[in-house]
Amino acid sequence: MGVPGHCQSWGQGTDRAIIVTVESRLKTIEKLRLDYEVPFVSDRGKVLDHTIVRINERRKGVAISYALLDPTEQDLETLFPREGMDALADMTRTVLADLGVTPQKVALQMWDYSVTRGPYSLEGRAPVNRQRDTVLIIFAKSPLAYKFNYEMVLWHQCMHAKDRWERRFPAAHPQVQTSEWLDALWHFSIDGRLEARNRPHYSREERLEEALALFRRMGLPADAADRALVTCRGLWGREVTLDSLMEAGRSLGLQAADRGAAPKRSAGGA
Ligand SMILES: [Zn+2]
Repeated sequence: MGVPGHCQSWGQGTDRAIIVTVESRLKTIEKLRLDYEVPFVSDRGKVLDHTIVRINERRKGVAISYALLDPTEQDLETLFPREGMDALADMTRTVLADLGVTPQKVALQMWDYSVTRGPYSLEGRAPVNRQRDTVLIIFAKSPLAYKFNYEMVLWHQCMHAKDRWERRFPAAHPQVQTSEWLDALWHFSIDGRLEARNRPHYSREERLEEALALFRRMGLPADAADRALVTCRGLWGREVTLDSLMEAGRSLGLQAADRGAAPKRSAGGA
């Protein structure tokens, strides 16, 4: 027997084929640490002020992390093919640059499982770190399987990231739950700005419908809901801060209504 690793038939094509096949897209090539200003406090009171993101590969200058339920190389090729990830990485860099967001590091994290089982909200999250040198875009479902709106999700998440990166919102741990009303108000700002840039977004009418349904669910009286909708219209396309939205929520009675309904934190955003 030869020395381990020294292959006697090195020159043969079959061996090369095997070497190519075992090249992994799932090994950890870097552990990226992100520190946050707003920590996540678990049910048991554990304070989490950072996350460690295991980077599996780098495509087009973007660090990529795969969070698969049952990771195999074969699944990865099906869910997130190389060409698809190259295109998504390119698009992410283009979108962030278009929005004037220029962190040292851009990372994507791809989840393949259903949002109801995962810790993240509907479509994704876009945390930035305390130092504002890293932006992480989390897709909570496979965007390549949902071809028709991943571009919209990307623009949306990148706008959340822009607001955090420019310090209008804090760097919050991605598991910090935002109050629904806060997110609803924030979305008027985000979609209005996307509209002004002629980028994919929900229309003001769609957002107004959504907001009204939420205010009703919260048990807000009709006149209070009307006042809140006027504020929502006014936020369309306006740059906002967490403080300005909190103030609006206080004066509209949203914060009080929310406290009555369900105790939730309010500093993250999805
Ligand atoms: Zn959002």
